[in-house]
Amino acid sequence: MTAVRLLGPFGELRVHAGPLLLDAVGSDPGLDAHLARRGPLPQPTLAALIALTEAGAVRGRGGAGFPLARKLRAAGGGRRPVVVVDAAEGEPASAKDQALLELAPHLVLDGAVVVARALGAREIHLVTPADRGEVRTAVGGALGERRERGLRWHRHEAAPRFVAGQARAVLELLAGREALPVTAWEPEAVRGHRGRPTLLSNAETFAHVAALCRVGPEAYAAHGTPLEPGTTLLTVGACWRDPDRAGARVVEVGHGRWFGEVLDAAEVAGPVLVGGFHGTWVPGADLASLPVSSVALRSRGLTIGAGVVLPLGVTGCPVRRTAEVVDVLARESSGRCGPCRNGLPALSVAVCTLDEGGDTRDRIEQLVTVVTGRGACAHPDGTARLVRSLLSHLGGLVDDHLAGRCACHVVVRPSVAGGVGAGHV
Ligand code: SF4
Repeated sequence: MTAVRLLGPFGELRVHAGPLLLDAVGSDPGLDAHLARRGPLPQPTLAALIALTEAGAVRGRGGAGFPLARKLRAAGGGRRPVVVVDAAEGEPASAKDQALLELAPHLVLDGAVVVARALGAREIHLVTPADRGEVRTAVGGALGERRERGLRWHRHEAAPRFVAGQARAVLELLAGREALPVTAWEPEAVRGHRGRPTLLSNAETFAHVAALCRVGPEAYAAHGTPLEPGTTLLTVGACWRDPDRAGARVVEVGHGRWFGEVLDAAEVAGPVLVGGFHGTWVPGADLASLPVSSVALRSRGLTIGAGVVLPLGVTGCPVRRTAEVVDVLARESSGRCGPCRNGLPALSVAVCTLDEGGDTRDRIEQLVTVVTGRGACAHPDGTARLVRSLLSHLGGLVDDHLAGRCACHVVVRPSVAGGVGAGHV
């Protein structure tokens, strides 16, 4: 299988060719080659695009999974809307948007153009991470090749912090303020940038729109299941600073394939954190027998989030990793709401104490209940979900940790104590 090597946030990033979005990995990403491969860009009306994205069950791929057709309906028909491509990729372990923008930038830009034209929008804002220079270069090159009449592109760079990709944080950035979440009383599709309806979605979502428009709903559906047509991008790999687990890969997987086909035997031998830093721990053997499907994962109390899958292996300690991640998340909030100002730092202390051998499980249960559902955004809920899954899905490993029997007590290596990956801790 063709794979291209890029420089990802945690070292080498291998991007594998896939069936729809990543079918041209290794080929010239320029506009002429892109059009020669895929043909001209269709331009459906708003009604046709809504029908198409409903048929393809296209959902936001930044973590929330909101149906795109509903956003299109809400944003269309009123004041002239604005389109925003969110590729801020604030989730430290995610690199799928980076892979798309470096290797298939015109697919993302095509999707934004289709949506903008259907809505009658005249401006498209594109938000990329300030700390990934290769993305900046790729996007600059791709935009320089395009000549859309009547459309203005605006570029923004988000600081590399966890909450910077949240929808309201992105709108703050567009307004010239720091990219931090704020309370909003209406969805951004109704009232967003400068009070206009704003169709904001993740970069991968726009790539799916462009692919779906070109291949049609039947061919798109052939890659997935009746409930979840098409494919999804996964970032599989390591943000753990562990030489055995350096690097990561981005793969495009048809919905309905098994995680056991996507991950290798060593990756499912230990616990896996599915859904990234706001995700859930699950024993690898359990994950291997589940399909790549947000519906199936949800029915098991799991979430795919932005498609981040982090295998820990058999030598890693999930208690230690959770303590490190919660420490990051407690410091990454905007510090405006009570659960983040008080609750997350207290939760971080309680999980660190657990890591140091103190049995703080009751205190942790108390704190995750207190912070859940009380923030202006989902940051406290996501952090609580991660910690709750440690206790509920990996309870036996927590017992082993407290009894001094777990991997971090048996295998002493400097790298294990090194913490979560570079640049985010
Ligand atoms: S919940 Fe936390 S991250 Fe979200 S807006 Fe409030 S303080 Fe900021």
